[in-house]
Amino acid sequence: MRLRHKPWAKDKLQQHPDIVIDDPASNIGKWKASFREGAPLHVEIGTGKGQFVTGMAVRHPDTLFVGIELMQSVIVSALDKVLEADVQNVRLINQNARDLPAYFAENEIDRIYLNFSDPWPKNRHEKRRLTYNDFLQMYEKVMAPKGEIHLKTDNRGLFEYSLDSYKEYGMEVRNISWDLHNEGMTGNVMTEYEEKFSSKGHPIYRCEATFQ
Ligand code: SAM
Repeated sequence: MRLRHKPWAKDKLQQHPDIVIDDPASNIGKWKASFREGAPLHVEIGTGKGQFVTGMAVRHPDTLFVGIELMQSVIVSALDKVLEADVQNVRLINQNARDLPAYFAENEIDRIYLNFSDPWPKNRHEKRRLTYNDFLQMYEKVMAPKGEIHLKTDNRGLFEYSLDSYKEYGMEVRNISWDLHNEGMTGNVMTEYEEKFSSKGHPIYRCEATFQ
């Protein structure tokens, strides 16, 4: 992703405290209540410029979506999309997803989306992959029983690694697709990376994994 320095980004993020949650730890255990008690809570890790989280929020107005993104200069574009779509069911967190348990209580999250996560192809960087065992342990802490992780990627290495990692962890993996766009999935909302790579002819891989 091309990163531009945006010195104004911080101010802009601070101007929308109802959407960009400055102190996410203060919301621990209270995310659903901030929207609608009992609503499903879906979290996208590495939300990028926000096309997916916003598109999903439009299509699923009764679900609360939280997008976590490390880069201020990127999440500010996600904020623009949320404002433009005028949806009430998106919150954004400009933090590192490694700290998820500081922001979400046990059982709080119903689904996690990992979309086109950095593949970290070198073996010595395995621990940085968002489907590495340590991350799965962390997700399990904050996810409801039977919580689901939905993953999409164009990177076959990361996909195969993730399938193995899920299975080794004892998760059930289903709806495995090795070419999503040619298998007629309905209701797919594309991310920015998905549009870019599928337009170049890359197959898109997808699966769903459930904690047992
Ligand atoms: N999901 C978007 C898409 O599909 O278009 C963006 C994909 S981009 C390859 C990965 C994004 O994840 C980057 O914007 C990066 O800053 C973010 N990211 C990577 N590690 C992260 C972490 N630990 N916590 C939050 N965001 C992270």
